[in-house]
Amino acid sequence: VTEEAPRAIILATGSELTRGETRDLNGSFLAAELSSAGIRVDEVSLVPDDPGLLLRRLERALASAGVVVFSGGLGPTADDHTVAVIAEAFGRSVVRHAEAERRMRERALRRMREDQIPPNYWKQSEVVEGAEVILNPVGLAPGMLLERGGSILVVLPGVPRELQAMFRGLVLPALRERLRLEPPRILRAKVLGHGESWAEAKIQKLGIDFERIEYGISAKPGELLVKFISHRAETHGYLDEVKARIAEEFGKEIIVLPEGLLDGAGAPIEVEHSFVVHQALLAAGLRVATAESCTGGLVAKALTDHGGSSAYFVGSVVAYANEVKTRVLGVREETLAAQGAVSEEVCREMALGALNLFSADRALAVTGIAGPDGGTPEKPVGLVYVGLGARGGLRFEVERNVFWGNRENVRQLATVRALEMLRRSLG
Ligand code: ATP
Ligand code: MG
Repeated sequence: VTEEAPRAIILATGSELTRGETRDLNGSFLAAELSSAGIRVDEVSLVPDDPGLLLRRLERALASAGVVVFSGGLGPTADDHTVAVIAEAFGRSVVRHAEAERRMRERALRRMREDQIPPNYWKQSEVVEGAEVILNPVGLAPGMLLERGGSILVVLPGVPRELQAMFRGLVLPALRERLRLEPPRILRAKVLGHGESWAEAKIQKLGIDFERIEYGISAKPGELLVKFISHRAETHGYLDEVKARIAEEFGKEIIVLPEGLLDGAGAPIEVEHSFVVHQALLAAGLRVATAESCTGGLVAKALTDHGGSSAYFVGSVVAYANEVKTRVLGVREETLAAQGAVSEEVCREMALGALNLFSADRALAVTGIAGPDGGTPEKPVGLVYVGLGARGGLRFEVERNVFWGNRENVRQLATVRALEMLRRSLG
């Protein structure tokens, strides 16, 4: 019988975090790393540089989690209280670590004489007596590992680069060994152009056993990220069944992403829709162009967001004024007069124009009313035609959408839709 996965609490400390001056990077980094390794994260919180509060939060965390990771406050300044607080919690004294001190002296002497070193400099070599010290390969302040009542406390400096190097290099291997971790299997997939309730209803139909698999959906404009996580080795195989059922139920409406949260090098796996499309385009080896009105170049931007896009992206025309649609893209005056700029036919002619102008294999065209003004009963704000032209028999596909939300939202949704049309056309 497998034991329950260990639970962790992450405390990222620093008043610059709780004041909202600095965005917390350590909490999200540690949460992804711990989750990937098979430790369930129960809480990620920010704590200001207040010794009393730090002590209470630390005590509470140690009482309720098997792993507590504490970041920040190891430096030389008066607001760095971490070592003192932990010493108090553990009823131990603070001592200087000889090796850390030696390294610090060596570093300081490259820039100054011994008598010029400020006394508070040495504060960074302080550790809690009896702690297992984690030397800092990229900075000064060492980290610590301590144990109390079956809980492991990991203390790391706040500088994200230092924390990341120490966590990956030394902490994670130690946790793996001590806790005999079972890494989870994490399956994620994207659903484009549908709401949460639509996706939820489909998933509920599949009869997945949610006792065995953790499941969740997170949403942003135009896209959903669906997650299925198996936390135990004995349910890992069941995830293949889940994968097969969702692929069958959703068909083209779902994009299954590479498994896991981190890639081989330990970086978060890129899940952006534009990245998925980027990879599909690299594999397809086609030349792509865009002709955009209401998106003002956002589709071209999304197609050039990732390094290496010059392999497929040729160029774009932002055809805002009608004269640009006619003179540059060759949209016919008659079509504009008869149908209006926001119409299926103009969208088709824009796509054709971009195919010709750029000698492209695929062209995306967008024309619509982003708002807030300019809507009419027949052509409301949010009406956007998204078109795709493809060479090889010259095929066109134009989709009529009525998107919701403000101007930014409409433009964002139109961009996602255009990219998705292109992706689906790649087969
Ligand atoms: P140092 O020895 O450099 O003082 P420290 O352990 O004392 O390290 P802090 O003083 O808390 O760490 O923070 C050092 C730097 O790292 C500051 O610029 C701080 O804003 C930044 N930092 C600390 N914690 C975080 C965090 N969670 N996310 C992003 N940046 C952080
Ligand atoms: Mg500091």
